[in-house]
Amino acid sequence: TLRNPNEPEFLQAVLEVAETVIPFIEKNKKYQNQMLLERMVEADRIIIFRVAWIDDKGQTQVNRGFRVQMNSAIGPYKGGLRFHPTVNLSVLKFLAFEQTFKNSLTTLPMGGGKGGSDFDPKGKSDIEVMRFCQSFMTELCKYVGAYTDVPAGDMGVGAREVGYLFGQYKKIRNEFTGVLTGKGMSYGGSLIRPEATGYGVVYFAQSMLETRGMDLKDKIVAVSGSGNVAQYAVEKATQLGAKVVTMSDSTGYIYDADGIDAEKLAYMMHLKNELRTKISEYVVKYPNAKFYEGAKSWEQPCDIALPCATQNELNAEDAQTLVANGCVCVSEGANMPSTPEAIAVFHKARILFSPGKASNAGGVATSGLEMSQNSLRLSWTAEEVDKKLKTIMLNIHASCVQYGTEEDGYIDYVKGANIAGFVKVADAMLAQGVV
Ligand code: NDP
Repeated sequence: TLRNPNEPEFLQAVLEVAETVIPFIEKNKKYQNQMLLERMVEADRIIIFRVAWIDDKGQTQVNRGFRVQMNSAIGPYKGGLRFHPTVNLSVLKFLAFEQTFKNSLTTLPMGGGKGGSDFDPKGKSDIEVMRFCQSFMTELCKYVGAYTDVPAGDMGVGAREVGYLFGQYKKIRNEFTGVLTGKGMSYGGSLIRPEATGYGVVYFAQSMLETRGMDLKDKIVAVSGSGNVAQYAVEKATQLGAKVVTMSDSTGYIYDADGIDAEKLAYMMHLKNELRTKISEYVVKYPNAKFYEGAKSWEQPCDIALPCATQNELNAEDAQTLVANGCVCVSEGANMPSTPEAIAVFHKARILFSPGKASNAGGVATSGLEMSQNSLRLSWTAEEVDKKLKTIMLNIHASCVQYGTEEDGYIDYVKGANIAGFVKVADAMLAQGVV
């Protein structure tokens, strides 16, 4: 706490890992007296820089840019860039710390990193976003590269932003390499990357349900968020026979008792990806649905909850409501959406609960597959990538079961993910000496 003042999100993420990993270290001599966890919470380096750019009125604007290079024991730093007004050092350190464990779980050779800016893309023109991205990359390009650090998208950074960032990197460095993932298909992107996080969240939920002899068919699903992760979680859950009844954004949520089918989801994507407007527009086109301003999806009865918006969006009260309404499975799509108190409620009720670092790892895993394709200079088919994604999610689930199964048979996915993620990074750090 003394070394990281005013960083509540970072401390929350570290505490959650410490609570499960310290007892494991105490039982395993190999990991003792090496200061492994102490080394993992200290970033390799953090770069903070000014991003000055000119808006459409000719006015100069200033934002702050960050890149947290957390841990490179098992591969180049890898993790998204977030453009959102709430971005600060605490948020990015928590995300980079989580990313190290998540990337380890994927079994692919990727270290942990995260970055971004307090820039708010909302209400900005395409040209303003481009100017901002160019200024951001003008500085960031000194610190990233295909063998050093490979950023990707996150909140507020989608295909448009990745394209502008890639264009600027290429112009300055005069090299066409896989420095970013989430690229468009015409310049080195991977099929299934846009879908991967959301699909992976649902594949993971499927594996969890299987441990109790259940599946997604005819299940009622509540989703939060309406961005990249939420959209493809809705698509996959619907394809597998579930009925998704809610989606949300920062203004509130919509409830559609008939289910958000493929046609309605396409409209939602149009609203959010092209018009970049509020979710309440959905009920204008589909008046059977209802919009609840300032409220959260969790008040609606559901069998499965998929939080896919942002950190700490699901608190103890929400968790109690979900459990009381019969929810049996929570698979996190966002990073750290459930508060520690909410997780305690899920564990106490013995329902299936997976932390984002396990269930949302499909996105970065597919970014890893994009890096492989870039190195090989070829593109795999959608079927090939989806098959690999499914296998990776199954393996992550198996790792969680291996390290997280309690004496009474209950699977603590938080404990499982933390320990499995820790072991690979710790082994690599031990082998590489004290550096
Ligand atoms: P997007 O920017 O595409 O979407 C974010 C969504 O969350 C938007 O619908 C946004 O609403 C909503 N939102 C933001 N803040 C709040 C809030 N306080 N309350 C309710 N809703 C809110 O981001 P992504 O879908 O990419 O990311 C969502 C989460 O998933 C993040 O936690 C991210 O770190 C995590 N993640 C993303 C991965 C990826 O591949 N994209 C990979 C792994 C994790 P509005 O439209 O109003 O802004």
